[in-house]
This record gives sequence, structure tokens and C-alpha cells, in this order.
Amino acid sequence: MTVTMGSAINLVVLGPPGAGKGTQGVEFARGHGIPQISTGDILRDAVRSGSELGRRARATMEAGRLVDDELMIAIVRERLDREDVAGGFVLDGFPRTVAQAVALDEIMTGRPPLIVIDIAVPDDALVARLARRRVCGACGQATSVDLSPESRCGRCGGELVLRSDDTESVVRERLRVYADATRPLVDYYSQRPSFRAVDGDRSPAEVGAALAAAVDAVLAERAAGRAPAGESRA
Ligand code: ADP
Ligand code: ZN
Repeated sequence: MTVTMGSAINLVVLGPPGAGKGTQGVEFARGHGIPQISTGDILRDAVRSGSELGRRARATMEAGRLVDDELMIAIVRERLDREDVAGGFVLDGFPRTVAQAVALDEIMTGRPPLIVIDIAVPDDALVARLARRRVCGACGQATSVDLSPESRCGRCGGELVLRSDDTESVVRERLRVYADATRPLVDYYSQRPSFRAVDGDRSPAEVGAALAAAVDAVLAERAAGRAPAGESRA
């Protein structure tokens, strides 16, 4: 069966560091059979493999700052040019600046419009979550120390480590960078009919359900708006 472009879910998951964008993005993408694209994962893979990109990005990431727009836009443009996104995609970690958002709109020209979901979580909850977050040194899977006290990855058994940018001082810098550069994106998108905010200060399952419901609501509105004239109006 071919998936028509019109039914593609082109989802952007917005939210502060530690909001659960990665967890939710992976789940949503798996449920819909579409690729999940995390710019943080792309950069961490590059650092691990020691590529040119990794060498350029490493120090910036470890300081909690943003890798430059031009480089990030080139990476995402190339990724969204591949055929596997024809049925939709989930984008996590991009855009992170208004310049990236403008570039993404340009990349999306002629494609089904973005659905943008903001996962909102208060700052104090984020700091506490990031302090408890551990990642698998082997496969990158994230977990919380209260879920995995035995310090082994639930997926592959690898050793759990603190992500190098989850130390307290770098977390504070990431939250500052988020407030400065990324939170303005909520204003950039909030007037669009395909924007929704969900409360992320709940269990992963509850946030996942809210995210799925928000996407469904946008799709239902879109379908109603597309009904032939005369049918959609009372
Ligand atoms: P977070 O847990 O903060 O959401 P990510 O895994 O998305 O972390 O990103 C980790 C780091 O990678 C960021 O702090 C930043 O240095 C870099 N990065 C990821 N995506 C972008 C982007 N779109 N623009 C600039 N830098 C990025
Ligand atoms: Zn693992």
C-alpha cells in the first residue's frame, strides 16, 4: 500500500531539555511506522564515530550551547530529502532557533503542513529529571535511575552513564539557552491551526496519550477543513 502525501504526519515535537521529546518521539514514530529524526542523536552518533561533524559539534554540545544554524539546517535538509519521510516523520530537537524554523518552513514547501506539539514542563521538574537521567553507553537508550536502579540498560544490558551534558552546570546552561533561543518558537508556531501544547509534567504514558490525542485533533480539523464546500459549513 502506498501512503499518500496528504495523509503524512509531519510532526515537530517542541519542548525544553528533559521534557521527554525523545521518549515520546520514538514511541509515536514506532506506532505510526514513520522515521524519528533526533538532531541530538545524529550529533551524538557523529561524536561517537569521530566524524568531521562530531569533531565540530563536540565542544559546543558539552558546553550546553547550540551548534550553528547553518550546519544544523544542512543536516536536516539532507535528512528530509530522503524518500523514507514521504509517509511522515517525527522531528525531535529541531528547530531550536527561529532561523531553523524559517528554514524548515522553506524545506516543507509543497508538503503536508507541519503539526507542532509543545511538551510543556516547569523548570524545577526538568532539573530534577535530568539529574536522574542516565543513558546506555552502548545503545544510547535513556532511562531514569528510579526505574533502573540496577544500573544496566533495559534494552541491551549495557552500562548506564550520566550523559556528558547532564551535569548540573551544563543543565543550567541548556535551560538558559532554551529560554533564550528556543522558547520563542512557541510564539512562532502558536497561531497556526496545527499547533498544540500538552502538559508534559505527567507519566510518560499520560504524555504519550495526550500527544496522540493532540495530533488526532489536528488531523480531524484538517480533514473537516478539506471537505467539499457546502459539506463543511452549517
Ligand atoms: P535535549 O536533552 O537538550 O533535548 P538533544 O539531545 O536534543 O538534547 O541535544 C543535545 C545537544 O545537541 C544540544 O544541547 C545542542 O548542543 C545540540 N543540538 C541538537 N539539536 C540542535 C539544533 N537543532 N541546533 C543546535 N544544536 C543542536
Ligand atoms: Zn542499551
